[in-house]
Amino acid sequence: MATVEVVALGGVGEIGKNCTVVEQGDDWILIDAGLSFPNEEMPGIDIIIPDFAYLVENAEKLKAVFLTHAHEDHVGALPYLVSELNVPIYATEFTHLLIKDKMEEKTGRKDLDLRVMKFGEKVEVGGLTVEPIRITHSIPETAAIAIQTVHGNLLFTADFKFDFTPVDGKLSDLARLCELGKEGVLSLFSDSTNVERPGWGPSEKDVMPGLRKVFSEAQGRVLLTTFASNIHRMQQFLNVAAEFGRKVAVVGRRMESNLDICSRFGYLKAPRGIMITLDDAKDLPAHEVAILTTGSQGEPFSALVQMSKGEYGRMQIKQGDTLIYSARPIPGNEGAIWRTINRLFRQGCTVVYEGPTPVHVSGHAYQQELQMMINLTKPFYLTPVHGEPRHQHKYLELGREMGYPEHRMFTLEVGQKLVFDETKAFFGDRVPCGRVLIDSTGQPGVPDEVLRHRNALAKDGLVTIAVSVDVEVGEIIGEPILQSTGLFISEEKLKHIREIVADSLNSLNRNECKDTGKVRHLLQEVAKKALLRQAGARPVILVTVFEV
Ligand SMILES: [Zn+2]
Ligand SMILES: [Zn+2]
Repeated sequence: MATVEVVALGGVGEIGKNCTVVEQGDDWILIDAGLSFPNEEMPGIDIIIPDFAYLVENAEKLKAVFLTHAHEDHVGALPYLVSELNVPIYATEFTHLLIKDKMEEKTGRKDLDLRVMKFGEKVEVGGLTVEPIRITHSIPETAAIAIQTVHGNLLFTADFKFDFTPVDGKLSDLARLCELGKEGVLSLFSDSTNVERPGWGPSEKDVMPGLRKVFSEAQGRVLLTTFASNIHRMQQFLNVAAEFGRKVAVVGRRMESNLDICSRFGYLKAPRGIMITLDDAKDLPAHEVAILTTGSQGEPFSALVQMSKGEYGRMQIKQGDTLIYSARPIPGNEGAIWRTINRLFRQGCTVVYEGPTPVHVSGHAYQQELQMMINLTKPFYLTPVHGEPRHQHKYLELGREMGYPEHRMFTLEVGQKLVFDETKAFFGDRVPCGRVLIDSTGQPGVPDEVLRHRNALAKDGLVTIAVSVDVEVGEIIGEPILQSTGLFISEEKLKHIREIVADSLNSLNRNECKDTGKVRHLLQEVAKKALLRQAGARPVILVTVFEV
């Protein structure tokens, strides 16, 4: 009998770029294809996606992609995946609606094989049976994914929390999870992001008092920023705005289009007559206006960031405005977010971001919810995903507390296979994996070397050296020209370094001078040493040798 193998191409040992392959013989499926965001050490990088080389190598085996929900860390890499692989992509209706336009826009293709899956309906993929199970998270129609394999059921929780008062009233299908537990779950692949938080997390509904408090105290306009996909938060904002007799305008392209799609398909119900345009809002007194805006991650071109700089043409921040920051900073974005918040304060806008009455709650399960999931589904093996090493580690502690022995718990690493056979689970081979960096050119694959140079340039600047050589005679013509930019150094020291570099050429004989490669190498090495010794700097050094 074939083994069943699971390998994450992202999303374990890290938060972001969730992407997991499940293999049974020649029947492979992929769960999610997400992106992650760069940290401060990746200048110029916009997004990071998983390396799909392993999937491309095995293109004929990959039969389908299943999406758990529409967050970018689960769907953001899809446009890059489909440019290399033509494969059906299953998603619940909401996820489907949110990704469809975006993917067609990004790939310029109308022939993508995007399919809608329904809760309770199983999809056969070769020898695998895949079943989406409704689970609550911070976005509608999140699907846990159960996969029936020859060795038992694998259950991927997706990002989840157990919310008994979700905004759309659609509860997790606990009954089905229980049933699955009775049928037998071989391994649970559980969200572990919030494993450090004890107890039970708050419901989405718990932000209502926080929103009401802000509205009741605000004198001027009330703005709210959140993820453009956070339909539930927007719904709550609309409801509270209506309670307080305010009209709502929306700024930000993605938010406008998501609101439009969700209203058309019934995922969002705007109170009658509440929506107005930004132009209409200008004619109303400030205390009758509320505004939804993008920019919760401090994205440089978002409406909110431009407003904070006073550079947004359609609207200006006014003294007395209040902004509700109703989101969580994605690691790496904190700096940009705080700068935006500070600029807003400076313009006379009060920013409400955290406090005793929350204006944002997490979409991820706390400890007791994670234990509840284990309790309901009774998996034989535990495998935490969607977490950094510390989260995975803590999750195993949780498992230990619940009586799981070591051999029934696994800490996955990116590219490391977890193999199930008739009797046991064990780590298998490593597969090609890694991260692929994408900068503003949109072309995937910015090499690490480019990143290293960008960092070096940012730190110590650039030094260029140009010299002319008569290659026939084997003679250096004139002095080498050394220039620098972005390097902090006194003119005197620079002059000294110029001398050292020029003198070094005297050590070359005529034959050596004919070899321009040798000249370049010598200048590079001498300049590198001199700059380090004289100025303690490691700038990028570019040497040009002209042959005359
Ligand atoms: Zn996620
Ligand atoms: Zn999520």
